[in-house]
Amino acid sequence: MDTTTQYVFAFEDGDGKDKKLLGGKGANLCEMTQIGLNVPPGFVISTAACLEYLDEPKRALPPGLIEQVHEQMRALEQKTGKGFGDPDNPLLVSVRSGSAMSMPGMMDTILNLGLNSATLQGVIRATDDPRFGYDAYRRFIQLFGKVALGVPDEAFDKEFAAIKEAAHAKQDVDLSATDLRETCERFLKVVEDATGHPFPTDPYQQLEIAIKAVFNSWSGKRAVDYRKQFNITPDMANGTAVNVVTMVFGNRGDDSATGVAFTRNPATGENKLYGEYLVNAQGEDVVAGIRTPKPLDRLKVEMPDLADQLDELRDKLETHYREVQDFEFTIEQGQLYCLQTRNGKMNTVAMVRTSVEMEREGLITKEQALLRIAPESLEQMLFPRLDPNIKAESVAQGLPASPGAASGIAVFDADRAEHLGKGQGLKVILVREETKPEDIHGFFASEAILTSRGGKTSHAAVVARGMGKPCVAGAEGISVDVDRREARVGLTSFKEGDVITIDGTSGKVYLGAIPTVEPDFTPELHTLLGWADEMSKLKVLANADTPDDARRARRYGAVGIGLARTERMFNDVERLPIVIEMIVAETPEARQEALDRLLPLQRQDFHDLFEVMSPHPVTIRLLDPPIHEFLPDEHVLERELSELRALAQSARGVTVLAGAMGLLHASESLRREVETARHMVDPTVVEEAIAKKEAMLKKVRALYETNPMLGHRGVRLGMTFPEIYRMQVRAILEAAAECAKSGIEVHPQIKVPQVCTVQELRKVKEYVDSIHAEVAARYGKPVRFQFGTMIEVVRACMRADSLAEEAEFFSFGTNDLTQATFSFSREDAENKFLPLYNQSGLLQDNPFDVLDVKGVGKLMQLAVDWGRAVKPDLHVGICGEHGGHPASIAFCHQAGLDYVSCSGPRVPIARLAAAHAALKSAPTPNA
Ligand code: PEP
Ligand code: MG
Repeated sequence: MDTTTQYVFAFEDGDGKDKKLLGGKGANLCEMTQIGLNVPPGFVISTAACLEYLDEPKRALPPGLIEQVHEQMRALEQKTGKGFGDPDNPLLVSVRSGSAMSMPGMMDTILNLGLNSATLQGVIRATDDPRFGYDAYRRFIQLFGKVALGVPDEAFDKEFAAIKEAAHAKQDVDLSATDLRETCERFLKVVEDATGHPFPTDPYQQLEIAIKAVFNSWSGKRAVDYRKQFNITPDMANGTAVNVVTMVFGNRGDDSATGVAFTRNPATGENKLYGEYLVNAQGEDVVAGIRTPKPLDRLKVEMPDLADQLDELRDKLETHYREVQDFEFTIEQGQLYCLQTRNGKMNTVAMVRTSVEMEREGLITKEQALLRIAPESLEQMLFPRLDPNIKAESVAQGLPASPGAASGIAVFDADRAEHLGKGQGLKVILVREETKPEDIHGFFASEAILTSRGGKTSHAAVVARGMGKPCVAGAEGISVDVDRREARVGLTSFKEGDVITIDGTSGKVYLGAIPTVEPDFTPELHTLLGWADEMSKLKVLANADTPDDARRARRYGAVGIGLARTERMFNDVERLPIVIEMIVAETPEARQEALDRLLPLQRQDFHDLFEVMSPHPVTIRLLDPPIHEFLPDEHVLERELSELRALAQSARGVTVLAGAMGLLHASESLRREVETARHMVDPTVVEEAIAKKEAMLKKVRALYETNPMLGHRGVRLGMTFPEIYRMQVRAILEAAAECAKSGIEVHPQIKVPQVCTVQELRKVKEYVDSIHAEVAARYGKPVRFQFGTMIEVVRACMRADSLAEEAEFFSFGTNDLTQATFSFSREDAENKFLPLYNQSGLLQDNPFDVLDVKGVGKLMQLAVDWGRAVKPDLHVGICGEHGGHPASIAFCHQAGLDYVSCSGPRVPIARLAAAHAALKSAPTPNA
């Protein structure tokens, strides 16, 4: 073992850029110290030490580590003029974790380490403030007890509540020194009862236990869950560092305070210092939401001089880091210290606004402005908001802590949220008095979070914002009773299972479900996406089947339709019977009759799409229905038939009865009744209905397929029923000719699905050419269009060179291509075996979500290369679901595609992802 390894770095010496070794917090403390900010002296123990410790079966600290820690403690003693464990002038430190990735609230902090009964007296003498001393000591005992010794919080909370009650104290600051001394005594006993040992008094022993506790927390459930949820791999963060920092006190009287701040507003992005502070308090009071803090605007009134210093600190942080900072500060008797800074976690609205504004202020470039926003996070800007047309009375008002609106059933603890949300797939809203890090699994399972206490920087608010989930915090009008699983709001109440709605944008809480609407784009998002379009090579088109879809897609910035699924246009109550007629027709004439009725409808469909999208291209895919989707169910038909047959028999029976009335000497009125019954059902009509249904059943049976997804669909249908494709081609070309006639610029693209052979493509091209000639003659002008093919079967990839002879474009249908490549049914895999495959690592991702670059991608690359070898200007795109997935888009960029096409609401995500792909791709070496 190498005993000379340097594990411990003073803030003056650590490399502020080496977040992997020193953790984000530690590296920043080093950097802040080195750029001259007022940081309390301290040092960092590296993540490498953590990993060695966790690797060691007996969990012993690496050799040499403790000696290095002692050496640094001596240096701290020199810098502060205090002694660690010195009863006359004690040095106290905080011990904090911090890994390379910021994980808010995931790790534990211990404050005031170094206190024992002797040093406590030193603190009291030095400050002449017994109340302060006991307050510091009781905080230390609780934090150390909980974090390092595993004593549950509740044991302390119970004692503390009893003391507060006896003292009639509403808030902690109302407690006297005597109350706090008694608190310390009770807390020491709590620890001894829980652990069977007296509370450790030797400061160096305390420090060693604390360091190990921080290291251990890296492999604790909370941290492991968090990393899993956010896909934090060892590559991104491996082990936690430990930061040992000289304590400074925000609770040394009314000229002291503590606070947390963002250099810009993390909910809106507004360029204004944003945060909260508490006078005469310590850090965790703000974060835990135990006392309601004041907004920083108040500091200008209460401590104007410090408010100016804080503004200065803000400017220094932003100009140095060129990123919005989330920082903690303490004012100790009029002196401002910066305790921590990290890149601010903001919701996406704020990320987008700050990106645009920081670029305009010259802090960052356009490229940086784009790259600091994860494409997927734009989903947050597509969050629903409450329908403004619905008038609903809110029952409570809290702080708008994280925007967006959601409805769900109320649950009152994280485990229930997990059980009902994740386990049973219900939409739940986690309702708590306040949340703590151990509630994290409840966040993951919930639609939104509601708390009755705490500020906008409370745990609930920060974590929900990071996750992009709506949150209302500090709704003090709600009183939460976890044991009874109910919350009282004024005269009313709601229980577990009752539906509530919260609006994280306004802070309002409603009973029942309130309808929501789609959000608008902010002007900043428009600007940012405009920059994205300038940088990207891939164009972003949309999959849209209706004019409404197309309009929405355009609003989102789509520059065309990459896929209009024509079969979706037939899912209409009025059209479906005509489509069924077309399918079950016994003769070409009968089929033509149905098609003649469909032609004008389709022509109008295409006309509308062309008009909405003009002047951008509209790619229309010829019919590709798994045929069973359009046919009546065989069992339903059988049941209907047997009912009709029974009816026919009854009708015949009534006719016989009517004829027999003369034999019965029946009264006149009875004769009339029987006669009326005879007229009610005409047996010949019933016979006719039976004949139709029988024909339908026969057809349904004839067309039955065991695996319709691999059956009679796509171009196969076009081969067996050419009149269907002919009708569609005519509708496309006529609609285009009509548009052109009325001055609408159109670029129709005709796309053939499920193609395996060039002969199929040629056959369809024949129909297209002959109809085109007809339409051109009729309108006196040829219609410009492109003809291409979907690539969604393996053979199409393998025969790409030959398909390229006929096709002007390729469009990868990666939904089917994934199905075909894996031989996984796209209908069944995702809820049968794929979850197990993903959980057990047999497959890293769900290939129907994330393009399988290694398999499907390889086929795509071959097809692109072979296709372009024959036709260098072959236009290539993707229109499977992967077209809206950022990592898949990155692959499409590399593979040389021209466009991606995805559902309308994903278009902004795809636009940003396309820019990321272009910016991140290394310059291509000369081929
Ligand atoms: C595809 O297969 O990827 C595709 C876009 O077509 P569909 O999903 O309609 O089969
Ligand atoms: Mg397909």
